[in-house]
Amino acid sequence: MPLTGIEIYKLLPKTNCGECGVPTCLAFAMSLASGKAELAKCPHVSEEAKTRLSEAAAPPILPITIGIGERALKVGGETVLFRHEKRFENPAGLAMLVSDNMDEAEINARLEKTKTLKYERVGLTLHPDLVAVKNDSGDAQKFAAVAGKVKQNSDCHIILMSASPDNLAAALKVCADRRPLLYAATEETADRFAALSKEFACPVVAKSSSLDGLAQLTGKLMGLGVKNLVLDSGARTVRKAFEDQIVIRNAALKKFRALGFSTITFPCEMTTNPLKEALIASMFIAKYAGIIVLSDFKGESLFPLLVERMNIYTDPQRPLATKEGIYEINNPKDDSPVLITSNFSLTYFIVSGEIENSKVPCWLLVKDTEGLSVMTAWAAGKFGADTMSPFVKKCGIDVKVKHRKLVIPGYIASESGGLEEELPGWQAMVGPREGAHIPAYLKNWKV
Ligand code: SF4
Repeated sequence: MPLTGIEIYKLLPKTNCGECGVPTCLAFAMSLASGKAELAKCPHVSEEAKTRLSEAAAPPILPITIGIGERALKVGGETVLFRHEKRFENPAGLAMLVSDNMDEAEINARLEKTKTLKYERVGLTLHPDLVAVKNDSGDAQKFAAVAGKVKQNSDCHIILMSASPDNLAAALKVCADRRPLLYAATEETADRFAALSKEFACPVVAKSSSLDGLAQLTGKLMGLGVKNLVLDSGARTVRKAFEDQIVIRNAALKKFRALGFSTITFPCEMTTNPLKEALIASMFIAKYAGIIVLSDFKGESLFPLLVERMNIYTDPQRPLATKEGIYEINNPKDDSPVLITSNFSLTYFIVSGEIENSKVPCWLLVKDTEGLSVMTAWAAGKFGADTMSPFVKKCGIDVKVKHRKLVIPGYIASESGGLEEELPGWQAMVGPREGAHIPAYLKNWKV
């Protein structure tokens, strides 16, 4: 049974020093009990108390790691039902199916996609995460050969899918060093999967046809010493799989430990229509899959899924922001245009991208607006003439250009007069409202 807030409080130092970020030990205890704080935030807790509190302090959904190295995929660790309550922690991993019945050319083509389908977006590299190797042939050697090929030709993490523990053991001999996820232990095979998991230090998927059965199975696997688990509720209709995700997340947040694990879902087994498959996957990104297995990676569906995932898993309380300063784009000279924008990352990357596309050399001034977009920052009093002008004066753009023309976003055209008053000698020029119109505007710009 998890400890209550009062029970946790009794184990804390009770000095109310506030170093954990809340004013009192009682408030910290309550946050720990509800899974909204981490025990590590209190530097004064005793070792004895740490041991006793570890159960209460553990996130309701156990975080596990698949793969190795810097790109190892962490799933689980979630603490809330809704993103706006705090944030979602570890983005769902996107996997592509590779069957050991596919011919070599098809397998090679699929593995090539894991290298090429990568996208730059707001300063981040978006990429898929996993290859799920399925033992459709039932043949151990064939399965091991494809697992070895994936290991050699892709930096994606590996899911080994076979009903046969013997075939899994054969594949593990060639790729255990990549710490693959083993799919899937059932009531009948739990002992064998537990042994493989312990021998090769790999996480395991527990699969059952009902949530009751799943809870019993995880209990059995934990009893056998397997802690790193992922859940497959067995549902292969969209409605049932969706319901199961919701029930599992709710149960886990209520500290029902038997379902306190991340999940794996299979849109690839719910439809044969690629568009529907992408739609189903997008639903599971929002609610609440840890891993989503797709029949293939196709750029037109993978890219929107990666962008959705990035958006869902950003911290809603901390807008992505770009550093304040002067950005040089296309090698500007002293007669190049000077534009100014806010430091909301998306705004910065859209504006800088459009300037790059225009091929016109420019100076882009990025003003710290605490990560707010142009209009939001303007409405909050962070991007008006009175706040922009001190930044323009101190940033040093006046020594980089010989002209005194500043292009402001069209949405804040009303600030142009005030800006010219605050910046004597400067002319405020009203630029386009939309980023897409920047290239055409710059082509007609003259000193
Ligand atoms: Fe109490 Fe520890 Fe927080 Fe200090 S840091 S207030 S001792 S819980």
